[in-house]
Order: sequence, then C-alpha cells, then structure tokens
Amino acid sequence: MVMNKTALDRTQESPKLEVFQIDKSFERDRQRHTVLKNLSLAVHPGEFVSIIGPSGSGKSTLLQLIGGLLEPDSGEIRMGGRNVTGSKGLISYMPQQPALFPWYTLEQNVLLALDIAESNAKKRHGGAGGTPTTASREERRALARTWLARAGLGGYEEEYPQVLSGGMQQRASFVRAMLSPQELILLDEPFGALDALTRLQMQQWLLSIWEEHRRSVLLVTHSIEEAIFLSDRIYVLSAAPAQTIAEFQVPFERPRDEAIINCEPFIRMKRDIYQLLQMGSGQHAR
Ligand code: ADP
Ligand code: MG
Repeated sequence: MVMNKTALDRTQESPKLEVFQIDKSFERDRQRHTVLKNLSLAVHPGEFVSIIGPSGSGKSTLLQLIGGLLEPDSGEIRMGGRNVTGSKGLISYMPQQPALFPWYTLEQNVLLALDIAESNAKKRHGGAGGTPTTASREERRALARTWLARAGLGGYEEEYPQVLSGGMQQRASFVRAMLSPQELILLDEPFGALDALTRLQMQQWLLSIWEEHRRSVLLVTHSIEEAIFLSDRIYVLSAAPAQTIAEFQVPFERPRDEAIINCEPFIRMKRDIYQLLQMGSGQHAR
C-alpha cells in the first residue's frame, strides 16, 4: 500500500535482503568446522553492497546460503522482511566459475535463464523477490540479443562458450544474471579470473549497466579497490569463522570516474580496509 515513496521512506522500509545471525559449519575429517559464526548483514533496495574477506573465509558459502543452495545451522535469510531460508529461485546468482552450458550457444544460454525465470515467476505467482513477466518467447529472444550486443558480444550469439575468451564468458554470464527478473543479484568474484586491464573495463561496464537499473547487488570480492570503486557500502569479514568486523559507507558520487582511485579519501579507505583484513586474518580459532 506504499505509494509515492520518498528517499527517506526507502531507507526505512524492510531491507531487500537480511542475513540474520547465521551460523554455518561443515564436517571435515570427522570434525565440524565453523565457517560462519553469528553473521548478520543487510542490503537495502537499489543498494550496491560488497563483501570483502580473506580467501577461505566463507564468502561463497554465504552466497550459497542466501541463494538457498545450502541451509544454515541456525539463523535466517529474509527478503523483504519474510523468512526465505532455504528457498531457491528468489535471487539471481552468478557463481564464482562462469556457469555457461557448453552445449548451448551464447543466445541459448541467456535465453535459458529467461525461460527458467519466466516459469519460476509463474509457479510462484508473484511471490516475494520475483517479478512475473509476460513476455513471449520471441520477445525474450530479442531481449537476449539486445543485451548480448550491449555486452560487446553482438555477432557471437550463435557461438558456443568454449570458443570465447574468459572475459567474454564472464560478460555473457553476467548478462544472464542481469536478465533474470529477480531484484537481488549476487555476484561471486565475477572478475576474479581476468587480467587487470580487462577487469577495469568490466567494472566500468558493470557500473554503467547497474546505474541504469539500480537493482540490489551483493558482490563478493577479495579486491579492496574493486569493492570501493563499485559499492555504496562494504562489509569486511574476518577469516573463518567469518564475522563482519567492519562496515564502510563509500562516499563517492555516481556515476564514478576511474580517476577516483587516486584521490586521498579513496587511498585512505583502501589502507583502512587493508589493515582490518590483516588484523581479521589473525582472528582464527576462538
Ligand atoms: P571463500 O569463498 O571466502 O574463499 P568458501 O566459502 O569457498 O570461502 O569456503 C570457506 C570454507 O568452507 C573453506 O575452508 C572450505 O573448504 C569450506 N567449505 C566450503 N564448502 C564446503 C563443503 N560443501 N563441504 C565442506 N567444506 C566446505
Ligand atoms: Mg569463494
């Protein structure tokens, strides 16, 4: 019943995503290893949030919990204030390895995501987190082609993923994540495998797309610079068992210019996060 929302209303409405006091452990060598301990965080509507933490701290585990692919030992995942722990299909998830089907062309890969999203939306009948779509398959096909072109992949629609470079596969995988109708997108180190120059180009490309649509994004990265350059807010995680040890509000205006990475406040924030990560990596075994 909320109409004509003001900016203030938006900050006061339920977070798009709330991770509430999550514990998660795995069994290894007949012992339980705690990966996430009492971890909480939130993403507000239209916000771009990053999680930065040491390798092995439990970041991918956290995204899998949010995506409903794993269940926590305790705690809740909430979307729009509703408990959705263990529910799949409510978010758009780009896993750490580009997950394109090798036997499908780029267009078929992207279209598949649109088809699944359509069928999920119908099944769910407009449940929390999903926007039912009504596009015909032809319309979905046109949408897939338009977006592939925007990703610099025009002319490659009929190619199979394995003939493309790593960066092109990442872009196609990202397009697929962006095209699903869910309002929350999880990105797990989407640029991890790319060389520095391609990575910078991809970050700028991601921002230009995101700035048009302003979906809620939760991005996992181990690059401090990437987190600051892209985000509105950053959570810093300790080493496993991971907890949020700090939260940073990123003050830079949008659209962001690459030049900010050399300004004093950027460099200071980078240094602060670096020091926290160093301290946090000493937080093992409590
Ligand atoms: P990150 O993404 O931060 O590098 P992960 O979430 O991939 O970390 O892993 C965190 C820890 O949990 C690692 O020690 C990893 O070996 C362990 N782990 C992750 N998934 C499983 C699993 N399915 N079974 C057992 N251990 C796991
Ligand atoms: Mg990971």
